[in-house]
Amino acid sequence: MKQLENILGQTVFSEDDLCRLLRTEGEERKLLFQFAASKKTETVGRKVYFRGLIEFSNRCAKDCLYCGIRRSNNRVGRYELADDEILGACCFAWENGFGSVVLQSGELSSPAFVDRVDRLLRSIKKLSKGGLGITLSCGEQSPDTYRRWFESGAHRYLLRIETSDPELYSMIHPDDGRHCIERRMRALQDLKECGYQVGSGVMIGLPFQSIRQLAGDLLFLKKIDVDMVGMGPYIEHKNTPLSRYRHLLLPKPERLDLSLKMIATLRLVMPDINIAAATALQAIDPAGREKALTVGANVIMPNLTPLAYRKDYQLYEDKPCLDEDAGLCRSCLEARVDLAGSEIGYGEWGDPLHFFNRRS
Ligand code: SAM
Ligand code: SF4
Repeated sequence: MKQLENILGQTVFSEDDLCRLLRTEGEERKLLFQFAASKKTETVGRKVYFRGLIEFSNRCAKDCLYCGIRRSNNRVGRYELADDEILGACCFAWENGFGSVVLQSGELSSPAFVDRVDRLLRSIKKLSKGGLGITLSCGEQSPDTYRRWFESGAHRYLLRIETSDPELYSMIHPDDGRHCIERRMRALQDLKECGYQVGSGVMIGLPFQSIRQLAGDLLFLKKIDVDMVGMGPYIEHKNTPLSRYRHLLLPKPERLDLSLKMIATLRLVMPDINIAAATALQAIDPAGREKALTVGANVIMPNLTPLAYRKDYQLYEDKPCLDEDAGLCRSCLEARVDLAGSEIGYGEWGDPLHFFNRRS
């Protein structure tokens, strides 16, 4: 078997190499984390960028078998934030030096929804005099919609592939004609052609998922040449079909650990991208996101959704910060980021270096 040090020093990795890294334990695991931390510092620096997350609607036409706000979950109160609630959250972000916001929602593609997002984008640009960066995470849309939203001010788009393995993808989505991995891959391509900084990612620790499939996910992200990645643990939700397999899941601390190894390994595979410390990490461990910062992540998404709506945006059980804003206190965030050996890039967009490298 190859020496771990030899693999860590490579710039190109085989699927076997990645499996080996994802299976490290003890001293080898520590070494992986150290290598990833230095790779991050030498490539993208020590700064962490904030993206204020606004979950502006939980209405969704899709029925992903893992997601707590899936169309068929009728125990969720459906909501849409009013314009002034969304713009208020953007003002908070702007005034507090968060360089960007992320507008996230369930997936709808009605003309009313497309128009509304378009209007909101223009208003956010206006209120911040073009200063706030805007990321969208509103699911699969037509190339025309992507283009329209890009022209109205969005410049980043997050669309997780969830898993790059077609068989596993079909096991975690219903076979109803609306959930198709090829279409999702096509959407990622459309976004890139439009000029967006494109983000994707996967869930880690899904039932039936193997280490080899996760290694394949890393190679997929590299192949499609993403600029940003948000990936975190899968966490079960009792009102979803996939939760019937909860007995097959890794214990949560192991899912957290595997997620940290995925982040560290990805930092070695794609050193100049932005990697977000996903909120789901915090659902397993209160310091989960900060741990991710120490092994390669460089983006955090503090939740700016008004408190009253958060209970209805529960993608999974134990979603953190349902009833408190404490995490947003500036000195508290600063202290936590500082503990992770990083500093906050206040007022900066923090665009992924990779985006500029791949276009130069
Ligand atoms: N509807 C859009 C979409 O699916 O791309 C954006 C919002 S969706 C709620 C954002 C992400 O939440 C999904 O890409 C998925 O990875 C994640 N998610 C949903 N259910 C989850 C669960 N049970 N555990 C962890 N992440 C989950
Ligand atoms: Fe809808 Fe996104 Fe949840 Fe799927 S993951 S059900 S598209 S909100």
